[in-house]
Amino acid sequence: MEVPPYVETITLPYPYIPEGVKAYLIDDDRPTLIDTGGGGAESLRILGQALAEHGSKVEDVEVVLNTHAHPDHFGGDFYVKQASGARVLIHSLEAPVLRDPGSMLERWRRAYSEAGLQFAPRGYLDVLGSMRAVEPDRILSDGDRVELGSVELRVIHTPGHSPGHLCFFDEDAGVLFSGDQVIGSGSVYIGGPDGDLPLYLESLERLLEMKIELVLPAHGPPVGDPRRRIREMLRHEEEREERILRILDEGPRDLHYVAEAVYAGESEVLPILGKMATLERLRKLVQEGKAESATHNGGTTFSLV
Ligand SMILES: [Zn+2]
Ligand SMILES: [Zn+2]
Repeated sequence: MEVPPYVETITLPYPYIPEGVKAYLIDDDRPTLIDTGGGGAESLRILGQALAEHGSKVEDVEVVLNTHAHPDHFGGDFYVKQASGARVLIHSLEAPVLRDPGSMLERWRRAYSEAGLQFAPRGYLDVLGSMRAVEPDRILSDGDRVELGSVELRVIHTPGHSPGHLCFFDEDAGVLFSGDQVIGSGSVYIGGPDGDLPLYLESLERLLEMKIELVLPAHGPPVGDPRRRIREMLRHEEEREERILRILDEGPRDLHYVAEAVYAGESEVLPILGKMATLERLRKLVQEGKAESATHNGGTTFSLV
């Protein structure tokens, strides 16, 4: 299925994300942006230029729909709202970050320390300290409908990557704006401080039940065969879990050992995020009673039950 004519895809640069992040312009009665990118000078310049190419401008934007409050997705909100007075919409569980972006730093610091990592707010996170706060105009919940003219989007709450993550679904066209829930290539980061792997997998299963013809993700290319891609993403997680179970089958292991073994030979994975994602997978196994953790001499090990 082709990208519908009312949608314009805008790819914005973001540090440490080589393929960048996508915002979508819905060019209807009420020009709408789904996400606004990181908000850095270059990102805003490209956003303005892309809108101009589509005969629009930042001042025309009436609605900003946020998939979630990660810095690569909402950093432009302040500037778009300032220029246009656009109404900013987001889930209640993401709103606190919009109101106080700096608060995320403390949560990341805690997540790093839980994974035994030295906190270094570089790269992906270094923008948080300078991000501008935005007061949301409307809080969205699962099942809400957002009218944009001839297009109506249904709000689908898909927690897991972050607690208040939303997808936006054009039911008539079968098009899902999926944010970071389903991405075009690679795998989604599920780990501290926002991730919840069991919830994320549930959200993927839920999307499998829906009649989606095309997924427009925030990262990577459009997905023309959503069911296959979603199954592939589920399978990826299963494989990681099976690998962890095999590693623990050898005996009690600490997080560092498990993460190194799970990601052996995968240079594209940032070691830090790999470790935090592994910790979340171990937590899931403990929660499900398949593994247990033990702390001795200040160190924690995981073993099969
Ligand atoms: Zn995200
Ligand atoms: Zn993202």
